[in-house]
Amino acid sequence: MSAGPSAAPPTNGSAGTAGTILELVRTGRATTRGDLVALTGLARSTVAQRVDALLASRLLVPGGDSASTGGRPPAMLAFNSAAGVVLAGDIGATHSRVAVTDLAGTVLAQQRKDIAVAEGPATVLTWLEGAFDALLEECGGDRMDLRGVGIGLPGPVEFATGRPVTPPIMPGWNLHPVGQRLAERFGVPALVDNDVNIMAVGEHWSTWRDEPFLLFVKIGTGIGSGFVAGGHVHRGADGAAGDIGHIHVPDHDDVVCRCGNVGCLEAVAGGAAMAVRLAELGLGTRTSRDVVAQVLAGQPDAVRLARQAGHAIGGVLAACVNMLNPAVIVIGGDVAGAGEPLLAGIREVVYRRSLPLATGRLRIVPSQLGDEAGIIGAAVMVLETILAPAAVDAALVDASRSA
Ligand SMILES: [Zn+2]
Repeated sequence: MSAGPSAAPPTNGSAGTAGTILELVRTGRATTRGDLVALTGLARSTVAQRVDALLASRLLVPGGDSASTGGRPPAMLAFNSAAGVVLAGDIGATHSRVAVTDLAGTVLAQQRKDIAVAEGPATVLTWLEGAFDALLEECGGDRMDLRGVGIGLPGPVEFATGRPVTPPIMPGWNLHPVGQRLAERFGVPALVDNDVNIMAVGEHWSTWRDEPFLLFVKIGTGIGSGFVAGGHVHRGADGAAGDIGHIHVPDHDDVVCRCGNVGCLEAVAGGAAMAVRLAELGLGTRTSRDVVAQVLAGQPDAVRLARQAGHAIGGVLAACVNMLNPAVIVIGGDVAGAGEPLLAGIREVVYRRSLPLATGRLRIVPSQLGDEAGIIGAAVMVLETILAPAAVDAALVDASRSA
């Protein structure tokens, strides 16, 4: 197929396939066959043939609101988000959340449980699989509709193989084939990533889809970040990108981090570190959630500490801003609930220390999804994979062969 006279940019050869057509409808760029003819440059008959294949697969359905003002209304097409479901899991250090979503990432059912990831893969994954079974049952239980599984883990993950790699707080998990096990158990593709990466994906997809460069910072017991660049997670060469918790901050060489180094950001400003500091003042603080409660109650030492933590985090983020130039920094994780003192501390330092060009339109905002960011991100990670044009094309070829 030639590129036509409009000097369209070179494509990878997939322009106008059924998968591309689904993407145009799913993202709202096309709602009629006429739109698809105009956008793809394909013959009307070719578009009709591909739309028929997508209708047969139930990924497209007739429908949507007709904007016609007279004459014969154009036949509208809509993405059928009910054509399947996805299992999503956000495994945290001490508590986890699991959900079933539709193909638009809408949560249909979910549950959460206090379970320590340190109990090991046998215990945690057995619970996870049972919880997924129960949720599928709750949603009608048709395994035929299951399209994929997505999981976030609280440590570094080799994305290509779905295995955690020397995760510091996950004894027994090193190189455990999590993705392979779930793919075999459920008979669908299973993707595994670091929990902060999936939170970045969830936040980006739900609120900031028009901003291709977003830095998500999780401040919980520890501190980590996930960077969305050009609309996709930037994982680095070994899946270690974004680990800002162990960047050295000045003037804290007396603080030893669990990684063995001194003066790490997380050992200075993480939720666990703040809890220890407040406990030393006799406030009875045990966890990062206690810290948040004391900040919100206006406890002066807690408020001061939150602001100081914000300054330390802001110093590291100022360097990240100069390096990465994100348009948005989203602050999430348990400790983000401390609100204004923490956020103000971060903003003060980032705007003072970063280059003006990089901060001209930079926004630093709290997470919109809160503790749902991981679950939404895990689902979206799967959806973006199984609904990618090439994956849809391959699935349609398989379906036509087995028909
Ligand atoms: Zn460290």
